[in-house]
Amino acid sequence: RAVYEKGLTQSRKGFAERFNRFLANFRSVDEDFFEELEDTLIGADLGFDLAISISNQVREEVKLENVKDPQEIRELIIRLMVASYEKQGEQEDQSMHFAKNGEPTVILFVGVNGVGKTTTVGKMAKRYKDQGKSIMLAAADTFRAGAVKQLQEWGDRADVPVVAGPEKADPASVVYQAVEKAKAEGTDILFVDTAGRLQNNVNLMQELAKMNRVIQKVLPEAPQEVLLVLDATTGQNALQQAKLFKDSSEVTGLVLTKMDGTAKGGIVFAIRDQLHLPVKWIGFGEKAEDLRVFSAEDFVFGLFK
Ligand code: GDP
Repeated sequence: RAVYEKGLTQSRKGFAERFNRFLANFRSVDEDFFEELEDTLIGADLGFDLAISISNQVREEVKLENVKDPQEIRELIIRLMVASYEKQGEQEDQSMHFAKNGEPTVILFVGVNGVGKTTTVGKMAKRYKDQGKSIMLAAADTFRAGAVKQLQEWGDRADVPVVAGPEKADPASVVYQAVEKAKAEGTDILFVDTAGRLQNNVNLMQELAKMNRVIQKVLPEAPQEVLLVLDATTGQNALQQAKLFKDSSEVTGLVLTKMDGTAKGGIVFAIRDQLHLPVKWIGFGEKAEDLRVFSAEDFVFGLFK
């Protein structure tokens, strides 16, 4: 929880402090109260629909239970926010999927340039390596200058091998080499850092489909995860990217990065509400340890602390 608390400092300033102020001035639960509540939730980037829905639920429960104490209302809102996230997730599995046949697990990272894919791959590699897994990285982002070198640095830091091709190599050929090598060496997890080209849906779809074909030639059950990385500081833009990627690839989960750099952490809820994709990981900074498995409860508590 401490990491969530620290990482959400800015969001808390934008959200909880405003929220606490209005609860402190609170006289009675009237229409002004609900208007202010809705404004605060929308201001935190929860999205209009979800903000109204939570506000309506508060309205009902307040009436039903005859709640008058601001502290109780605060707790009610916290509970409803956690519930709104978890209810959406009932049908899906929020945990990471791994190969069940003893073959290497393959995890693809997709997302546009600059969102934090390479950094996330590096952090995750270190994390699983520290848990005793054998890890390999594939530098399939052959498009962005510096991406391969950056991944190599993470590989060195975590002491895991990195498979890379020559500059501007076909990403699929790098992936093929890596998958073959991972299989031959009995690697537990292969993380694939892909390029964030997104001129249009068709291109993206074709590139990812090609990568999938190449992977499945060697490992028919892979990839086990396709994680879409989104930059939380881009707010509603991240939501648009997520829609595009969701339509054009088999995204299995989301990673929201740079949560430390935004005052609008509520975007987590908007994305969840509108896309029904689980947020699996959350990034709170540039260092290896600044990555956490997403927990709606810890998140909401961090937001309100
Ligand atoms: P990529 O193009 O998607 O591979 O993005 P990079 O991994 O190169 O990240 C772009 C920039 O964002 C780099 O300067 C990273 O250090 C930074 N970055 C990545 N994740 C986070 C995060 O969670 N918090 C902060 N503050 N910066 C991050």
